[in-house]
Amino acid sequence: MTNTPPANGATLRATDAQHHLHPFTDTASLNAKGARVITKAKGVYLWDSEGERLIDGMSGLWCVNMGYGRQELVDAANRQMEALPYYNTFFQTTNEPAVHLAQAIAEITPGDLNHVFFAGSGSEAIDTVIRMVRHYWTLNGQPDRKILIARDNAYHGSTIAGASLGGMSGMHKQAAPLLPDIHRISQPYWYGEGRDMSEHDFGIACARELEDKILELGPDNVAAFIGEPVQGAGGVIVPPASYWPEIQRICNKYGILLASDEVICGFGRTGSWFGCETLGFQPDIISMAKGLSSGYLPISAVAVGERIASTLINKCGDFNHGFTYSGHPVAAAVALENIRLLRDERVIEYVANTIGPYFQSRVRERLGDHPLCGHIEGVGLLAGIALVKDKASGTLFESGVDVGTVCRDHCFNNGLVMRACGSRMVFCPPLVISRAEVDEMVEKARACFDLTYEDVMGETLSCASVG
Ligand SMILES: *Cc1c(COP(=O)(O)O)cnc(C)c1O
Repeated sequence: MTNTPPANGATLRATDAQHHLHPFTDTASLNAKGARVITKAKGVYLWDSEGERLIDGMSGLWCVNMGYGRQELVDAANRQMEALPYYNTFFQTTNEPAVHLAQAIAEITPGDLNHVFFAGSGSEAIDTVIRMVRHYWTLNGQPDRKILIARDNAYHGSTIAGASLGGMSGMHKQAAPLLPDIHRISQPYWYGEGRDMSEHDFGIACARELEDKILELGPDNVAAFIGEPVQGAGGVIVPPASYWPEIQRICNKYGILLASDEVICGFGRTGSWFGCETLGFQPDIISMAKGLSSGYLPISAVAVGERIASTLINKCGDFNHGFTYSGHPVAAAVALENIRLLRDERVIEYVANTIGPYFQSRVRERLGDHPLCGHIEGVGLLAGIALVKDKASGTLFESGVDVGTVCRDHCFNNGLVMRACGSRMVFCPPLVISRAEVDEMVEKARACFDLTYEDVMGETLSCASVG
């Protein structure tokens, strides 16, 4: 790495602007300023082509759970590349990493989720969930059960199915016409939408919306409910503790399948292997991606319990679904090694008992009293911070003031990656972050909150509050 001559940032930026269309990006405005060229990374740090160092408060895109530069993952990929770079799993064949990865996922998932289907991305895993739950009901003689119920402000990927299932209005507008037979209920966002109730009561009320929706649609027409244990791209929204157990009770009552989209919450993010364990529910089916390989290679999986598995195995015949890269040997080898590292280095325990509690308390101590901070919620190594115009009342900025983007840009220009989800700022650092690195990240965030405050309020903070 150190012997590589530095990339020529200006040339790369110009060529990028000429040819590269970026995801979720206003290309014209990106091209006007030029993309930042990231050249290398180690641990929780990134470097760009100008040699500037950034601390990555987002684990890439919620995925680099083990941090950057783990030689074990590189070696696992190299070994498998040399032995067998690719072979399919469609036609009566399998491969060693896929076999062992399926077994490892069966071991770490809760309950009886012992069968695993592989895909290449979170979105493909979500398509697989939709295909599986609908087909499950058809095979069980209830072909009318086609409806999936999801939540407003949910994120389930960006294929047509994922965009349709998610609750992001900006995506709906551009993806229309959307997939039929998808319905939505409110998100359990207490600070934003439920402050007139106790958190407990609000959690129950949001979950009961599921029951109302099931009765409205007819229980015999509903296939499944799907949710992220903690909403990620929606802004890190942690539901009240009462929410998921009540959702579980309602799904059980009507026999409806419960799907947990663990693409962000899986692999230790919340202090358990899977977010459903932290949030207190047992799904019938789990989608996972991102942290599965710590982002080193693209891979995703869907794990199913006996209820779905026995139907798919015994009643189905051919399941007419799959991807060229389902069970890709190199991606599977890296994911398997990643799970081994998470296990052997006791990273889940580190998040649950050590760094998660430290991170949560530092974020609250150092950012909680900031005048822009309305409310902080988080669990494990996830946190979401609502930026508000008036701290006491929790009043948001007018829609013309894009406080999240202003704050994100200050961070990005000052050596910190945080993401803005609307007016919520979110943290999702690598699970291997140290206490000193947490301190550095949070202090940088505080300084950037100050700069943001000066921009959006048009006044300088007194030295006392800059701290
Ligand atoms: C990122 C994400 C997806 C989509 O994953 P891709 O790999 O980007 O297709 C699906 N669900 C959740 C909860 C996610 O965070």
